[in-house]
Order: sequence, then structure tokens, then C-alpha cells
Amino acid sequence: MEDTIAALATAPGRGSIAVIRISGEKARAALEKVFYPKNPWEPRKLLYGFVRDDGGVVDEAMAVYLPAPHTYTREDVAEIHCHGGPVPVERTLKLLFEAGARPAEPGEFTKRAFLNGRVDLAQAEAVMDLIGAEGEAAARVSLDLMEGKLSRKVGELQSALTDLLAETEAALDYPEEDLEEMMKPALENRMAALQGELQKLIDNANIGRVALEGFKVVLAGRPNVGKSSLLNALSGTERAIVTAIAGTTRDTLEETIDIRGLTFRLLDTAGIRETQDTVESIGVARSRRAMAEAHLVLVILDGSEGLKAEDQAVLASLEKGKGLVVINKGDLPDQMEDGELQKWAPDIPIWHVSAKTGEGLESLKDALYRWALPQPLGSAGLTHERHVLAVKAALASLMRANAALDGDMPVDLLAMDLHECWEHLGEITGQVYNEFIIDRIFEKFCLGK
Ligand code: GDP
Ligand code: ZN
Repeated sequence: MEDTIAALATAPGRGSIAVIRISGEKARAALEKVFYPKNPWEPRKLLYGFVRDDGGVVDEAMAVYLPAPHTYTREDVAEIHCHGGPVPVERTLKLLFEAGARPAEPGEFTKRAFLNGRVDLAQAEAVMDLIGAEGEAAARVSLDLMEGKLSRKVGELQSALTDLLAETEAALDYPEEDLEEMMKPALENRMAALQGELQKLIDNANIGRVALEGFKVVLAGRPNVGKSSLLNALSGTERAIVTAIAGTTRDTLEETIDIRGLTFRLLDTAGIRETQDTVESIGVARSRRAMAEAHLVLVILDGSEGLKAEDQAVLASLEKGKGLVVINKGDLPDQMEDGELQKWAPDIPIWHVSAKTGEGLESLKDALYRWALPQPLGSAGLTHERHVLAVKAALASLMRANAALDGDMPVDLLAMDLHECWEHLGEITGQVYNEFIIDRIFEKFCLGK
């Protein structure tokens, strides 16, 4: 931690300016060895000047020095804004390394912000999520977390637990009978309330995760019903290969689209056709796996042909509550028998579209959006698997505490479970952490963040 680190903070490549960030005890000393301002140094003021080495001017630049603790890392920080080309950036960085800084690891600036207590772990993660956000929905939930929404919720739950703990520990001084009469019902009520809150976080976890990671939709159906055409029509591109020969789409093909700010990952599959062709069998196995991993499966049918045995097989393979039927080729004469379809797709919502004319696509998109986000974005709390696991572990501890109370176990056992619950919640904000987890989280950051 005593090291002073430096890295390019802006995206690599060419731009009008590039910002190099330095953090640590030697930030100012390193800056002064490299950058020569036209006017005298003054903290928090962007100064005009030159980056110089022994040979002369390396770049014309601006620089600022920000003393601790009111900085991103809470350490001394400096920035050099040089010209945004690889040569000025590399030469300036090299000079900084010679002046005592070392290259920063990915995420190291934000890691220091966390270790120095400027942000908690959920907020640090949200910084990365915001940078990686593909759509507005992802940005919205990341901003909420960055601003402290989840951290505050965790804090509230923890302080309720602390109160509970204080009361149970006070109860250690009372005789058993008094505890039984006076405290048990009250403790039970409060534990039940806490359990409800934890359960709600778990129930709503999908909202945040879908917003952040996107909603996975698989287009399934026998060859030639129009999966590739529909994928193209929905994404507005011509990426998937469309042909009139059955079995052309051999591999799975992903297309990302944005519907009302939410990211959808649409996957075209090779179809669930039984086949001897090995290349195609690999595709079939993949498409089965894709269907299992998807949030939603769109079963595409060809309305101009009616229901075939292969269609029935696809419908039969659907997981309950995970499918929509899309009858394509609505521009052609309708041969689909409603009764027959009802038999094979009971309780499955049906949409009529034409990939060719675009008819019905807007209402299909609306349906996809409602399916992906049945609740408003604002009810999102947890955004990562890690958060969900921590809340589930906290809930398990709380249930053990409840069982201990029910079974008239010694009060100190109860207190232990409550304390464990508190700690699991603390994993979310990083009050409780181990190096390994921290490294895993920050490794995923880009360089210079
Ligand atoms: P896939 O094998 O399910 O991916 O089907 P394709 O997208 O490759 O389409 C098979 C054939 O059906 C192609 O000749 C498409 O032009 C045609 N097709 C797809 N969608 C429509 C549609 O909505 N209307 C009509 N008339 N033809 C379509
Ligand atoms: Zn296709």
C-alpha cells in the first residue's frame, strides 16, 4: 500500500487528451520530477505546462495535484492531462515510473478507495458495473448502488440485528423463566420481520441481475420457421445467416439488443432436430444447453405450415413457465390449427408476427420487456451472485437463531447465530472480507480504474 501507482485513466488508443493518474505518498514528488508548470504549484488547480525529460519537451500538458484525503483513493493523487496519443502517454508514464511510481494493477485505484474506507465493497463494484453498463437499465442500478442504496439497506438490517443482539445478551442476566415470558414473543416477532426483509431481497435479486447482465432469450424451433429472420428483424441487423435450405444455422448465434434501455441477449439455435450429421449434433447439444440457461425460450412456429411433429417435440421440451410461442410468417395464409396448438402449448402465451414485414414485432418487444422486468427497476437491490449468496447465508443464520429460540437453546447460541447473520451481511459491503475475495473482485476491473 505504500507504493505509489500510476496508470492511464482514460481508454487506451487515440483521443484528444489522455489522463494519467498517480496515487500514493510519492505522487507529488513524481509529478514534480516530470511536469513543469508555467505558474507556481497550487493544490487542486489545473496548471498549464510541459512534461520534460533530459532531452527536452515530451508533451505540452495540464496537471493537477490533489492532496489526501479528499481524493478518489484518499491518498495524494496527481493527474497529468497530456495529448491522447500512444507516444506522449507511454513516454510520460515511463518518466513517472523512473520518478518512483510503479504501474497500477487493474482496479488498484478503486481497491485503494475501498481499503482506505472511501467507498465500501458494493459501491466499488458498482463503479465497475457503471463503466461496463451496456444499457440505461444497467447504468441506473449501478448508479443506485454506487450512491449507497444497497449499503444503506445492509446498514439498516445490521443495526436491527445489533439491537436484537444487545437484548439477547442482556437476557443472559435473567433467569430462564423470565426470558421465556418477557422476551421470547418480542424476539420472535423481530426475527420474523428481519427474515421477511432478507427474503424480499432474495426474491427481487433477479431484477438487478437482469438489469446488469441482460435478459437471455433463446429462439428455438425446427429449421426454416424463421429464427434467423426473426433475430435479424428484432436486432435490425443482417448478422445471422438466412437461407431457404433447412439446417443452415448450425451454431448458436448471439445478438444483443436494447429494448427500452434493457439489454437482451438473443440466441439463435440450430434447432432441436435429431440428426446424424455430427457438426449439427454439436449444435443441437449446444442449443439444448442454451435453452436450459436462458431466462426465456421463444418457440418459433411457421404459421404458414401448421404444427409438425418437430414443433411438438420442441414444445414438449419446454420448461414450465419459461416459454412464449411466436407464430411467424403472419404475412402468409394461416395454416395453424388453434385447437392443435392449444393441445401442445397449454397456458403458453402466443404472439403472431411476421419477420418479413415486421408486423407484431413491437408488441413482441413489449412482451419481452414485461417478462424480463415484472417489477420496476427501483425495486432492485442485489446485483451480483456474491450479494445473493451472502443474503442467503445471512438468512440461514437467522433461521438457526430462530430455531434456537424455539428449541429453548442457551441464549449464547442464539447470539452466535445472530452475530453470524450480521457478518454475512457485512460481506456485501466488505466489512467482513478476505484478501482472496477482494482480489477476485478487483481483478475484473480494467487497468487504470
Ligand atoms: P431458421 O432456419 O428458423 O433460422 O429460418 P430462416 O430465418 O433461415 O428462414 C427460413 C425461410 O423462411 C427463409 O427463406 C426466410 O426468408 C423465410 N421467412 C422467414 N420469416 C418469414 C416471414 O415472416 N414471412 C415469410 N413469408 N417468409 C419468412
Ligand atoms: Zn436460422
